[in-house]
Amino acid sequence: MASPTETLEFQAETRQLLQLVIHSIYSNKDIFLRELISNASDALDKLRLESLTDTALGVDTSDLHITLEVDRDARTLTVRDNGVGMTRDDVVDLIGTIAKSGTASLLAKIKEAKDAEAAQHLIGQFGVGFYSAFMVADKVTLHTRRAGTEQGTVWESDGEGTYTIAAADGLPVGTSVTLHLKAEDSEDGLGDYLARWKIRQIVKQYSDFIRWPIRMATEPAEAKADTDGESGAEDSKDELETLNSMKALWARPRSEVTEAEYSEFYQQISHDWQAPAETIHMRAEGTFEYEALLFLPSQAPFDLFSRDTKRGVQLYVKRVFIMDDCDALMPNYLRFVKGVVDAHDLSLNVSREILQHDRQITAVRRRLVKKVLGAIRDMQATRTEDYTKFWEQFGRVVKEGLIEDRDNTDALLELLSAASTNDPEKTTTLREYVARMKEGQNTIYFLTGETRAAVENSPHMEAFTAKGYEVLILTDPIDEVWTDQIPAFDGHRFQSVAKGQVDLDDDTADESEEAKAAKAQQEQDYAPLTAWLQTALAEHVKQVRLSTRLTTSAACLVGDAHDLTPTLEKMYRAMGQDLPAVKRILELNPTHPLVTALRQAHQANADDPALAEIAELVHGSALLAEGGDLPDPARFTRLLTERLTKTL
Ligand code: ADP
Ligand code: MG
Repeated sequence: MASPTETLEFQAETRQLLQLVIHSIYSNKDIFLRELISNASDALDKLRLESLTDTALGVDTSDLHITLEVDRDARTLTVRDNGVGMTRDDVVDLIGTIAKSGTASLLAKIKEAKDAEAAQHLIGQFGVGFYSAFMVADKVTLHTRRAGTEQGTVWESDGEGTYTIAAADGLPVGTSVTLHLKAEDSEDGLGDYLARWKIRQIVKQYSDFIRWPIRMATEPAEAKADTDGESGAEDSKDELETLNSMKALWARPRSEVTEAEYSEFYQQISHDWQAPAETIHMRAEGTFEYEALLFLPSQAPFDLFSRDTKRGVQLYVKRVFIMDDCDALMPNYLRFVKGVVDAHDLSLNVSREILQHDRQITAVRRRLVKKVLGAIRDMQATRTEDYTKFWEQFGRVVKEGLIEDRDNTDALLELLSAASTNDPEKTTTLREYVARMKEGQNTIYFLTGETRAAVENSPHMEAFTAKGYEVLILTDPIDEVWTDQIPAFDGHRFQSVAKGQVDLDDDTADESEEAKAAKAQQEQDYAPLTAWLQTALAEHVKQVRLSTRLTTSAACLVGDAHDLTPTLEKMYRAMGQDLPAVKRILELNPTHPLVTALRQAHQANADDPALAEIAELVHGSALLAEGGDLPDPARFTRLLTERLTKTL
């Protein structure tokens, strides 16, 4: 005979929390099932562990599992487990009160919180597990029997102020939680949560990797539709299907997982049909335990550069799915990394906001970033072909890290790979560049531009090519930005060949006295011309001077060390920034026949109106040579045509 039913009051805090859970916390009601399944899974874990240490427990643990039962007539959904169960006292302590420390002060803070968002933020620090059942149920009945005891307990509540508790005989070991579903959740009069497809979908999304089987009876009609071709199933009403795959690869030791399994898992979470380029599987033990299984794809997705590309890392807590696109775990520049992080010591209800500010999560992220960069480095060191392909696909994104992630600048520079004048067929790393530097060279030369051809043919390259200096050819928009911000690699300064004064002879420091004197004389000879040009072209350039970087071209345009490059200027304008026009420096090649002739013409008659037109043409040609845009193409063409006509 069961003892009489007792009616007890919820602890005041519990009551308040219940109200919060029911009315304000979750925007997504589906997660009640995730919470109940997670509790059942914990109970199965506990029983397994207990049966190992306590052989006298006398329970059968050969088929630990979770069952979901739908009763359409009664409008109930039951989550049943054959786990450790609870004693009557457990039920009162665990379900009837909130024993967790800090609950009361948390509730006080929630009450003070001004809006729902603030309340949500606070509640995210706290798991509300079991009570989430009341979001969808107006009555919850729990049957339970603790392993190793005979007496079962029934608990029931409508989530208002009280609950009832009574002893019950004949219960199996374990717990069943029966939800009497609210009518309001029923759109079709049946209730979404009574629909098997809906239950399957929620389990697949949140509980697929729970290690215990989650079973549900298929309906005869459904069994037929679902398992097309498997005849014989129609008749048996109790045919059970297992809803979850249980394949949490990350929770298994690396040595027990095959490459094929990794690949299959990757394809499943990434919707990619190719195998990953790299697999990273790690486990951290200690104060904050987690497992991570990350993949580097072999091909970039089409939307890698769209404004709101999602990050590819999912967060799990003890195999329960928490969120996609977990930005707290992976920086934006590694958004192509796919995978799963399973953190053991977080609340299921943790929010993005909290993750962003959690010190331990920050530490996990730092470690994951190091791991990912390390894996790319390994690829670079041991699998050149794969690395080259990887860099082609993702190099542009990884380079964003040079701006975003100053903690890893050195590691990122090591990974960098760039086209170079050294070998048109092959890219080079900075390390390789440095190894090839000339005697006395201490600078890494580069030129940015929009296309490889434009950079290679740019007049800025001339002296460097002539004297055998290697120049990196950087053509990604991001190159303009990082080269502007990062001063050096391993002690070697970065220097744009289109900026500042170039004196390649200084590098070898062997300039003779005569050479110096000759240079000074040349400066003096050209001073009237350059001064005049500077006035004539004042609208377009800030200075005119003689060049040491040109061998075949007559003129080129360069910037000061801290000037924006033309491409960067264009980028800023495209982003809507209002910049004053950046004026550059016109450099003349004093050995070029056009320049020497110009000097003579200027000397002969400084007032010749043709001179001003030729000055414009020289400036325009310098712009065209580097692939730039003329300020007035129509005018340039007219001047050029007239000039050509006169020569015929
Ligand atoms: P949490 O899971 O974060 O502890 P919950 O509100 O989900 O919080 O559950 C409260 C407690 O109730 C659990 O810690 C567990 O001790 C007990 N409990 C809940 N569901 C079960 C179950 N199915 N079997 C055994 N114990 C359970
Ligand atoms: Mg729980």
